[in-house]
Amino acid sequence: MDVLSQKVQELMKELEPKFIEDLHWFHENPEMSFKEFDTTAYIRKELEALGIEILDSGLETGLVGYLRGGEEGPCIALRADIDALPVTEESTCTYPSKRPGMMHACGHDTHASSLLSAARILAQLKDQIHGSVKFFFQPAEEINLGAKKMVKLGCLEGVDAIFGLHNSPEIPLGTVAVKHGALMAAVDRIEITIKGKGGHGGIPQRNVDPVVCAAAIIQGAQTIVSRNVSPIDSCVISICSVKAGEGANNVTPDSVTMLGTVRTYSKEVEACVVKRLTALVDSICAAYECEGNLNYIYELPPTTNDEALYPAAHEAVTSIGAEPVDPIPSTGGEDFSIFMEECPGFFYWLGTRNEENDCVYSWHSPHFKADERCIAIGAGTYAMSVFKAIEHLSKK
Ligand SMILES: [Zn+2]
Ligand SMILES: [Zn+2]
Repeated sequence: MDVLSQKVQELMKELEPKFIEDLHWFHENPEMSFKEFDTTAYIRKELEALGIEILDSGLETGLVGYLRGGEEGPCIALRADIDALPVTEESTCTYPSKRPGMMHACGHDTHASSLLSAARILAQLKDQIHGSVKFFFQPAEEINLGAKKMVKLGCLEGVDAIFGLHNSPEIPLGTVAVKHGALMAAVDRIEITIKGKGGHGGIPQRNVDPVVCAAAIIQGAQTIVSRNVSPIDSCVISICSVKAGEGANNVTPDSVTMLGTVRTYSKEVEACVVKRLTALVDSICAAYECEGNLNYIYELPPTTNDEALYPAAHEAVTSIGAEPVDPIPSTGGEDFSIFMEECPGFFYWLGTRNEENDCVYSWHSPHFKADERCIAIGAGTYAMSVFKAIEHLSKK
């Protein structure tokens, strides 16, 4: 083991009580997207105590810390999201949320504390950094707006590579997912409106029924995944909300609105969905004498790891004694992908699964719980990513 990895591992152990103290504070004090004021104040105070500069980013919540290393070199950004969810905690955690109706049910407290812990490690190893580090404590990931805001404010300026992570109850504690290609899906929103002509439900011949037309579109949309997308590719199309009428059993409504979500991993599959869904809405509506409109909204691109950063990411994980694993991707989305569109990026999953500790529940569950021993591994992964990425980028 090289001296630097050994030093990082020592600090992971030595500083762990402080890491856990941070985690407990974050977990007990969850805040909603773009309302992370107390969380930001806590992070700011701790970073300032470490001698890390807080940049004038223009963010109201969340912040960007900056650490200049001992020598000039590449700038590496490390990102953690910090917001919570409107969920009432029902987990077996011994330090539960103190704020009613709010919970770190996606475990962003583990990200915030892992990154703050990485800052604690890197501040001590500052002279060995041949470049600089930007610490992105990002607001509002849960509503897919935080990363967009940070990009718009120019936070990525001068950044050569960015690393991020999300806890994962799907992979065991002690492992970190280091994946080639896509780890999480593109997220698109669909809004379909079908206009017919309402009237008496008992006298259908006088109406143009948009409900029957909607049913045909829902059925038809299922054939895109089964008949148009290759069986080797992956795709999800879910219609999740159908709104028609005001509750009367005998009134045919004028219109139906439907909301849904599409998940894909490649531009080709996404383009296929758009083309087929447009054709289905147009032609089924024409056949049923309705007027249809599809509003297809691209919310997030897929979270696809940069191939050139893979060796650095893999070495970062092995060098701290964690086990790299290669899980199947998630059809969940992640707004880290917004940064990846602007800058080479790599996204990890941090293993938090532990049956003995009840750490098995999925993201957003009121029972969600992460094994707190993941924080030292998260901190080490972030910190070593800086050293390994600078090493690889400087070789070019
Ligand atoms: Zn979430
Ligand atoms: Zn999350």
